[in-house]
Amino acid sequence: MKILIATPECVPYAKTGGLADVTGALPKFFKKKKHDARVITPLYKKVDRQKFELKLLVKGLLIPLGERMEIANLWETKLERNIPVYFIENDKYFGRGELYRTPTGDYPDNAERFIFFSRACLEGLKAVTFQPEIIHCHDWQVGLIPAYLKTLYRIDGFFHSTATIFTIHNIAYQGIFPKEILSLAGFSLWDFTPEKLEYYGQINFLKAGIVYSEIVTTVSPTYAQEIQSSNEYGRGMEGVLHSRNKDLFGVLNGIDYKEWDPAKDKYIAAKYSIKNLEKKKVCKIELGKIAGLKVRENLPLIGMISRLDSLKGFDLLTESIPDLLKENLQLVILGTGDQIYQDALKIAAKKYPDKISLNIKFDNVLAHQIYAGCDFFLMPSRFEPCGLTQLIAMRYGTIPIVHRTGGLADTVKLFSPKEGKDKGNGFVFSEYKPQALVKAVKDALAVYADKKIWAELVNNARNSDFSWDKAVEQYLKLYQYAKEKVGEKI
Ligand code: ADP
Repeated sequence: MKILIATPECVPYAKTGGLADVTGALPKFFKKKKHDARVITPLYKKVDRQKFELKLLVKGLLIPLGERMEIANLWETKLERNIPVYFIENDKYFGRGELYRTPTGDYPDNAERFIFFSRACLEGLKAVTFQPEIIHCHDWQVGLIPAYLKTLYRIDGFFHSTATIFTIHNIAYQGIFPKEILSLAGFSLWDFTPEKLEYYGQINFLKAGIVYSEIVTTVSPTYAQEIQSSNEYGRGMEGVLHSRNKDLFGVLNGIDYKEWDPAKDKYIAAKYSIKNLEKKKVCKIELGKIAGLKVRENLPLIGMISRLDSLKGFDLLTESIPDLLKENLQLVILGTGDQIYQDALKIAAKKYPDKISLNIKFDNVLAHQIYAGCDFFLMPSRFEPCGLTQLIAMRYGTIPIVHRTGGLADTVKLFSPKEGKDKGNGFVFSEYKPQALVKAVKDALAVYADKKIWAELVNNARNSDFSWDKAVEQYLKLYQYAKEKVGEKI
């Protein structure tokens, strides 16, 4: 099958979150199964052109934007297994420090940037004459691609049998913009109705993806249910999602076992297998040095790697810190994000310098060291579409403590030493309240204190299967289904 993955970010080139991990991993697995999978993504300033040996493929593509034309250059490199990755270059739109936003807010021209990118994807495909059977679009930034194929490009023979799948990685980010950009995007007023692009008088890119694609997916079965269930979870999209209920699927993300493997990890102090946890202790001691904490072998160390955002539970965490730190434990936090949480955590770190190591930055190497060196991994997310970090943590034998929501509910099962065979792989709390979080941590510490039971728990976590294989099979089936749906209409 010919598959194009259209994405605003992709590992190893540019990443702000799990979306990039997913779009970097999927094509490798499709290629392994002999499909012709390719990727298209913006050429941000952050992308290292030298390191990745980017080559200019097409110069001066004309991209219509309202009444005018903008120029796109198309660059190419190869991901492992010889997978073509196309980059859309336009420095006015992508030659800046960040991908979408600075700590003070979104870039004001995000609508224009991603209208441009979405159209450039389609024009770029024609320029390189790659005619995909499937375009798999990821998140609001490329939500207009399915809409274009059903409107402006509807009679374009090149895309005659192209089906689109739209994946929602997080419903909280929708790309909602003033109506005025409708003409810039090239749509007519016919498309500006509540059944299509319109959303309370504005245009909603995520909704465009939901409405116009053959199939919609999200990244865990529980989240697929949650986002249809109420406004709180669906963020205004619950109605339109419910109306697409038959074509909405939850496909749980995997993690790249090659990239995340404590036995081969070049960033950690000592490589280890789960059979030999002695070396994990070396990672813990070393992490203490890096993080500026006096760690001790038997003093529980809890890690967090996250965007600093209320969706990720940082309101709950900051509220819980006074009670949490009454316990005999230490906390290493790595994250970037909202100023209010940066400030609150800085105050806490100052107050408890022996107990909290705060690292406000994006640092992949430190992330590896935290996954390897900690005993526990805390994820108090208010909402969590899938969550990759708890999966990575388990791969490193680091035990997750999570709020029961979305993908966390699908992947972390409460450990109970008494319950025979399936004893779970972590700790889960249901109420989004400080008492519940603190209780889960206390329960976790009690298990930690009993080394025999603890070893069983680590074993369970480590043996949980979060490889990509299952998800890849599910996606390929859905691609087939999407192709059939397009075929019916021809
Ligand atoms: P998100 O909602 O941000 O996509 P996920 O759990 O799905 O959350 O994925 C987060 C990914 O980003 C993981 O690979 C995690 O290791 C990485 N990550 C998040 N914050 C940082 C950071 N500050 N430094 C390094 N890696 C980070």
